Amino acid sequence: MVTQPTQPAYSSSAVPGVAPADFRVGADGLPPETIARVHERFLAHLSEKRATFLGYQTDQELEYKEVLKDYLNFHLNNVGDPFQPGNFTINSKWLERAVLDYYAALWNARWPHDDADPESYWGYITSMGSTEGNMYALWNARDYLSGKALHEDFDEYDQHLVYQLPRPATNNPNAYTPVLFYSSDTHYSIVKDALVLGIQTFHSIARQKYGDAHNPLHSGRPWPSEVPSTETGQTDLAALAKLVEFFAAEGYPILICLNYGTTFKGAYDDVARACDLLAPIFERYGLVNRQVRYDETDPYSGRPVHDEDIRAGFWLHVDGALGAAHMPFMEMARAADNVSACGPVFDFRLPQVSSISMSGHKWIGAPWPCGIYMTRTKLQLRAPADPVYIGARDSTFAGSRNGLSAVVFWQYLATHSFDRQIRKAVTLAELAGYAHERLQQLQADRAEDLWVERSPLALTVRFRRPSEDIVRKYSLSNERLLVSGTEREYSHIYIMEHVTADLIDALVRDLGRPDAFPRQRGEGAVVPRVRAVPGSEEISVPYEGRGFR
Ligand SMILES: *Cc1c(COP(=O)(O)O)cnc(C)c1O
Repeated sequence: MVTQPTQPAYSSSAVPGVAPADFRVGADGLPPETIARVHERFLAHLSEKRATFLGYQTDQELEYKEVLKDYLNFHLNNVGDPFQPGNFTINSKWLERAVLDYYAALWNARWPHDDADPESYWGYITSMGSTEGNMYALWNARDYLSGKALHEDFDEYDQHLVYQLPRPATNNPNAYTPVLFYSSDTHYSIVKDALVLGIQTFHSIARQKYGDAHNPLHSGRPWPSEVPSTETGQTDLAALAKLVEFFAAEGYPILICLNYGTTFKGAYDDVARACDLLAPIFERYGLVNRQVRYDETDPYSGRPVHDEDIRAGFWLHVDGALGAAHMPFMEMARAADNVSACGPVFDFRLPQVSSISMSGHKWIGAPWPCGIYMTRTKLQLRAPADPVYIGARDSTFAGSRNGLSAVVFWQYLATHSFDRQIRKAVTLAELAGYAHERLQQLQADRAEDLWVERSPLALTVRFRRPSEDIVRKYSLSNERLLVSGTEREYSHIYIMEHVTADLIDALVRDLGRPDAFPRQRGEGAVVPRVRAVPGSEEISVPYEGRGFR
């Protein structure tokens, strides 16, 4: 016996021409003609939606059908470390390593990966997108900054990994409590990851321990819940430096997430300038080379272990979901004088950059979410190599990892030379400029402020949220943003490879309708700021103003 529905379930499909009886699956499956009809109509529907898809930074111009089809009857699984073979032989780790080397080169890391070279890169292809890359960065950063050491131990029964805690620092109770800084335009995955990992933000610590009088941005005013950002969406670096300095002076290790292409406004943090501002602070408060001391025996086995480590007391993560894959080609275009500007340096050329995350389905246009996480080998928590261990080191977040993602990445890079990607970057930048101009023209023609904005170099343009039918037709992504204390509903479009000037013209035509911009609910009301306070009793994950929903 199986359960029966308590009410009519899934009474409609999202696909025209597909009735509930066509797609509800039960004990007998479905007849072949029905299955064929569902696929046919669903694919037609997807093609139709893609033709007007403007709201998200996913490339929808994919060319994988022919190449990938033969792989779909294999289960490829890259479980474990990409640089160790493991026993799951149906894997694509050799292609994964080629892809990682490519990005290590593009991001100016030392490559190839070499376990014996602390300055070389390490990384892996994630099963999720940048959410997992960000999560891994924060996890690694938390353990690194809290002074944990990883080593393998074994007794007569088994072998286990031991996370050893440092000996408390006698003169500094905060020495192993990382404090997190991110801006109010940061993707909500960072906030969620911090909650999962129990990492405290500067705000939650400040609220518990330091009064408003200590707020370095404005003595006597409440501490901001997140690092302020500019109207264009960049992290306010002067404010960041002041906040970091306060906590560095209090003895805390510093964990910073910067954005290289924010989700909603497409803003690029000037990571190079951030490093210039922060390096003297790290120097001044002894955060460049910290001595971490351990009790000399393993607490479990009583065996001797290493007794000290020299580590940095800061971690700087760059969330480059779209920008880390895109901007290197704008930099090449700039060097060749094909464009007049490119984004600031953000990669491993900067000695302070600890890790970078990137999504595979944004610039690359992978058919499913995937991404890349990359760091420096010296920053990994790793047990010393053990020749007896025959599997692949469990150094990644997931157990099973999608082996097809490496094939997709490799296929893309093999068929998209630097020249081709430079042309793509230049074309999309021009098209984003065109969209911006058309929307500004529309604003002038309508003689009303449609809040049309494009942050510098962004592939996105934002404007006043239009009526529901237009939002739906173009799959627009919408956010409520706070502009000078006033709540406004915005939509944005992303100029990705499948977008054409004709599509932008069609949108602008629709936005020219007299009823295109209805009055917004509570327009003009002043609303309180969204709070995000991981690590305290008051917990909330912001889902406003962050995009990609
Ligand atoms: C899209 C995005 C993410 C999340 O990436 P997923 O690939 O959706 O997990 C994180 N950060 C930024 C800046 C993004 O744009």
